[in-house]
Amino acid sequence: MTTTSSAAATPAERTLVLVKPDGVARGLTGEVLRRVEAKGYRIVALEMRTADDALLAEHYAEHQGKPFFAPLVEFMRSGPVVAAVVEGGRVIEGFRSLAGTTEPTGAAPGTIRGDLGRDWGTSVVQNLVHGSDSPESAAREIGLWFPAL
Ligand code: UDP
Repeated sequence: MTTTSSAAATPAERTLVLVKPDGVARGLTGEVLRRVEAKGYRIVALEMRTADDALLAEHYAEHQGKPFFAPLVEFMRSGPVVAAVVEGGRVIEGFRSLAGTTEPTGAAPGTIRGDLGRDWGTSVVQNLVHGSDSPESAAREIGLWFPAL
C-alpha cells in the first residue's frame, strides 16, 4: 500500500526574513524568531549586520524610483538588522501571513505587525520585519544576504 503525506507532497521552501532596525532596536528579535519557530519553521542561517546602500539598493530594486525609496534605504541602514534564512513547507506565504499586512495599523491582531508594530507617523513604514514575496524574490534575496549558501 502506498501512502502519501502532505509533508512529503510539500517540498521545503526557503525565504529571507529580516528583523528590521526598529525590531532590533525595540528588542523584538527573539519574539520574531520565536514566532517563526513556533509555527514549525527552521532557521537555517542567521546573522546580525548593518546593511550598506549597495546591498539595500539591490534588495529593494523593485522600489527604486518610488517616493519612499530613499527614506526606506535610510531607515534600513540606520541600525543593525537580523537576517535569517527560514525553511519550511510554503514558508514564503506562511511567513508573510505571520508578518501581517504592510501597515501595522491595519495589520490583523495575531500577526507580528498587528501585535507589535506601531504607526510612527514617519515617511517610511517601520513595520518590524521583511519577508520575501515569491520564490524568485526569495532566491534573489537569499543570494544577496547569504552568498555562501
Ligand atoms: N514602504 C513604505 N511606504 C510604502 C510602501 C512600502 O515605507 O508606501 C516600505 C515598508 O517598510 C515596506 C517596504 O517598503 O515593508 C517594502 O514594501 P513592500 O510593498 O514590498 O511591503 P512588504 O512586502 O514589506 O509588506
